[in-house]
Amino acid sequence: MNHLAKTDKKVAEALKAEIRRQREGIELIPSENFASLAVLEALGSVFTNKYSEGYPGNRYYGGTEHVDTVEQLAIDRAKALFGAEHANVQPLSGAPANIAVYSALLEPGDTVLGMDLSHGGHLTHGHPITWMAKIFKFVRYKTTPDGMIDFDQVRLLAREHKPKIILAGYSAYSRDLDYEQFKAIADEVGAYTMADIAHIAGLIAAGEMNNPTSLFDVITTTTHKTLRGPRGGLILCKKKLAKKIDKAVFPGFQGGPHENNIAAKAIAFHEAGQAEFKEYARQVKKNAKVLCNTLEQGGLKIMFGGTENHLILADVTPLGLSGKQAQELLDNVNITLNKNMIPDDPRKPMDPSGIRLGTPAVTTRGFIEIDMKNIGQAIISLIKNPNDEKIKTEARTLVAELANKYPLYSEIDI
Ligand SMILES: *Cc1c(COP(=O)(O)O)cnc(C)c1O
Repeated sequence: MNHLAKTDKKVAEALKAEIRRQREGIELIPSENFASLAVLEALGSVFTNKYSEGYPGNRYYGGTEHVDTVEQLAIDRAKALFGAEHANVQPLSGAPANIAVYSALLEPGDTVLGMDLSHGGHLTHGHPITWMAKIFKFVRYKTTPDGMIDFDQVRLLAREHKPKIILAGYSAYSRDLDYEQFKAIADEVGAYTMADIAHIAGLIAAGEMNNPTSLFDVITTTTHKTLRGPRGGLILCKKKLAKKIDKAVFPGFQGGPHENNIAAKAIAFHEAGQAEFKEYARQVKKNAKVLCNTLEQGGLKIMFGGTENHLILADVTPLGLSGKQAQELLDNVNITLNKNMIPDDPRKPMDPSGIRLGTPAVTTRGFIEIDMKNIGQAIISLIKNPNDEKIKTEARTLVAELANKYPLYSEIDI
């Protein structure tokens, strides 16, 4: 960081402080992870200088031979990793990937059937505050009281609203999905099947969760969550939709691809194909189960009947706090997670009943089951005794011990 420190002290200081924050805290936000140094090197490389509108071998600019090499590598590796017929690695992030798919497959006014936000869906699946909700019609299905997708409701809504896309995927749901049931309903009403695997792509790549790629028409994902790559998006699809999807991404929606980011995606796809990554994904799930059980035994109400992935959604109100209060209390001892709505939450989005937490980031650091149990118990003690300074001090000590035991980015000298 020599050059940065000389050129811009303010940004350099903020960056150093952020490295310290990541090192010294316990990161339980389930959409976050720690990318490898190889990924970070590619992100910070001269590939950022290059314009390359178009696709490998078919560009609007000269001098693209080397970005063609990395973009083709990224495409081939993404296809191999998920077993896809076609891959577009240019979407700038998860939300733009979803918008590109909507614009590829829908006309304005068409209908998408997706998961309700408070039941675990994502804003980009048609929340009324999004611009997409002004262009397309979104209908939402929910989960049953025992935490499963309500397929009877999915079928009824599909028959009633005749969606062009049936969308499976989530940001705050903790179970695996039965893609065959979605596909059967989509076939019945003539809809495309789309899976947004943004949160669970790494677990799917490692074979630790059901993979919808062979069954579904289109898959979208981020590359920075469990997949542990650079911040970015990815679309996989059947060959028959390849042209539509590629045209929708560019020139339909985006301009020049971010080739530094695409180089970093290529590296992340390579890393995710290794045996160590499979072991990582298994540990992510084991850690989540232990954390979930510890929180449940401590009195939190676990949503959806438990976890089969990397995340947990828990109602904290039985212990007397709101989700916002719990988030702030834990922030105060350097345990980071986020407040979250629970299904049909009676409280407001900015001060909901729940917290959402997960294990991808801490598992990258090396945390194992016993660490998750200790963290879970610390969380419970804090929530039960929000004004007890001794308990806060104990929690800070645990966080510091774990941060020391599992060093992060120790090669980066600040
Ligand atoms: C995170 C997420 C997105 C959005 O990804 P961004 O990179 O934040 O734009 C879309 N869909 C789902 C299901 C997500 O979890």
